[in-house]
Amino acid sequence: METMVLEAMKEVLRTGQEMARRGLVAGSSGNCSVRVPNTDLMVITPTSIEYDLLLQEDMCVLNTAGELVQGRYKPSIEISMHLAIYEARPEVGGIVHTHQQMATAVAVAGKGIPPILEEQVFQLLGAVELADYAPPGTRELADEAVAALGYRNACLLAHHGVVAVGAKIRDALLHAEIVERAAAVYLMSHLVGGPKVVPFMAAEYEGKDL
Ligand SMILES: [Zn+2]
Repeated sequence: METMVLEAMKEVLRTGQEMARRGLVAGSSGNCSVRVPNTDLMVITPTSIEYDLLLQEDMCVLNTAGELVQGRYKPSIEISMHLAIYEARPEVGGIVHTHQQMATAVAVAGKGIPPILEEQVFQLLGAVELADYAPPGTRELADEAVAALGYRNACLLAHHGVVAVGAKIRDALLHAEIVERAAAVYLMSHLVGGPKVVPFMAAEYEGKDL
């Protein structure tokens, strides 16, 4: 089990640093986590420390009650959101929460991203829905995120950012990148007449404002 915890710590650190390197977060914002297989543990980034300053041993190990089991720093304030998603989605093994710009631009407009790209539909499983606003770190935000995700692999958080999930944290990071591409394409398509939904989902969106 110890090896699996260490592996999860390594993956969480690597993903957090990759989120910062790719510009999906600034400073210490955002967070990411891994569910440790066959245990009641998850590993999550600590709060308020820039990713490039973090070491593997700085990652926080929590149990499903949200109690710190291992680590010297305070965990991310979004632990309730991560725990709620793991509870609602047994197949999810990793979660990435970012403040990426293009997707957040859509979120501040009070919209989600309709299913406009094949890549988006196949990887994220459809639209990227918008979770209603709730303050960071609250149980309300956790509930809104779980509801907006549904069975899909990403959602937007109003006035805030993005949550992406996957079987592995590597998949969750990829899903966050796909959200950013879909958001950029969605925004730019408004310059040339507006987006259209992929043909095989068009019926659901007929007459809807995109
Ligand atoms: Zn955030």
